Amino acid sequence: MEQLICGKSPRQWEEEFPVVGDLVKLKETFWVNPKKVGTEEALKQCSLSLADVKEAEARLQRFAPFIAKAFPETAKMEGIIESPVQAIPQMQKALEKEWGIHIPGGMLLKCDSHLPISGSIKARGGIYEVLKHAEDLALQEGMLTLEDDYSQLDSDKFRDFYSKYSIAVGSTGNLGLSIGIMSARLGFRVSVHMSADARQWKKDLLREKGVTVVEYPEDYSKAVAEGRRQAESDPMCYFVDDENSVNLFMGYAVAAQRLKGQLEQMGVQVDKEHPLFAFLPCGVGGGPGGVAFGFKLVYGDAVHCFFAEPTHAPCMMLGLVTGLQDKVCVQDFGIDNLTAADGLAVGRPSSFVGKTIEPFLSGSYTVDDGTLYRRLALLRDTENLALEPSALAGMEGVRWLLESKDGQAYLKKEGLADKMEQAHFMPWGTGGSMVPPEVMEEYYRKGKE
Ligand SMILES: *Cc1c(COP(=O)(O)O)cnc(C)c1O
Repeated sequence: MEQLICGKSPRQWEEEFPVVGDLVKLKETFWVNPKKVGTEEALKQCSLSLADVKEAEARLQRFAPFIAKAFPETAKMEGIIESPVQAIPQMQKALEKEWGIHIPGGMLLKCDSHLPISGSIKARGGIYEVLKHAEDLALQEGMLTLEDDYSQLDSDKFRDFYSKYSIAVGSTGNLGLSIGIMSARLGFRVSVHMSADARQWKKDLLREKGVTVVEYPEDYSKAVAEGRRQAESDPMCYFVDDENSVNLFMGYAVAAQRLKGQLEQMGVQVDKEHPLFAFLPCGVGGGPGGVAFGFKLVYGDAVHCFFAEPTHAPCMMLGLVTGLQDKVCVQDFGIDNLTAADGLAVGRPSSFVGKTIEPFLSGSYTVDDGTLYRRLALLRDTENLALEPSALAGMEGVRWLLESKDGQAYLKKEGLADKMEQAHFMPWGTGGSMVPPEVMEEYYRKGKE
């Protein structure tokens, strides 16, 4: 007899939701979210608001003098951790040629690959949560007021203070880098619980910085569970809970507020007549969820957000399609969660993110590892930009939207079919600038094969 998943057999789930059949077969597939509603209505269903994002933005501003001092590479940005956005016209041409289609409008790459300090999108949420915790502790102890110059945190006095406390996190790699680097710099003791997917160079780099790295032969969910369990037994330990964290989410959400300014400077219009399509690589969901939420606050119905996941780890899509959220993991459906996209190798999604983002999200799709490698090579050949495999998942969204039946139906339903020449497509390039050159060469070689 077949194993039941929340009361139904896998076959019953596939009959009810045909796209589940594609996921189980590891077929690249595209899904339009039937539960999306207008932004105004979605915001009414949501417990989070613009005020929360503004608060996160203000906190990052308070920390900017500290960051500028502690991480000199951020000094020219005055301690604001932000990445560039750039047009990728050569990549656009190459994709048109490969897909044999015309891509109307323009393609813009958001280069979170080049975020300072930890070289991935986790430099937003991960670092934000550590800073918030550091601020909470210092305020509580009366060592700091909100009006102070936070550059004083870069001192022996504060490092001694923080050394009494510890921070723990479970990670496939990049979250560990962000949490580890920032926590260690502030003076915290920090443990990173790494899943089997984590790359050796990430573990080496963290150990160099004095971070305790604990390795597990299992996947991300196990690393998180172990980290959480060990933190619970230590009252001085704070656990960064990637599966449930509102703080992480808010750190990511700040991105769109800043992007608005960047696009204005570039002369890129986003409004009803000039739609923006964002394609966000998704692991547990916090990164893309937070960015998408921020996007909807800034641009409302003019922005359309899609998540992208590996065919071997489509946890968020599975949770959203079936409505089971975190009650289901990809392994329940016989999907192995083994992918070269280590940043996205997550088998069970965040239910907090799934439920929060459901009314805002336009849809989701899956990408094969081979496709990720080929896009990695193509982007380097055309634009001389080197990203890690996970960070390429956003590219395929353009083809799904323009070429698939469901994508075209979406554009029609949203009244966008005649506005596409004024559109912009924004794949979110989520990581890669810290990948060692020899590892990047290997990725590139695979992509050329
Ligand atoms: C973590 C990560 C993501 C996705 O973020 P989640 O919060 O796990 O959904 C995407 N790309 C890269 C490179 C990452 O490290």
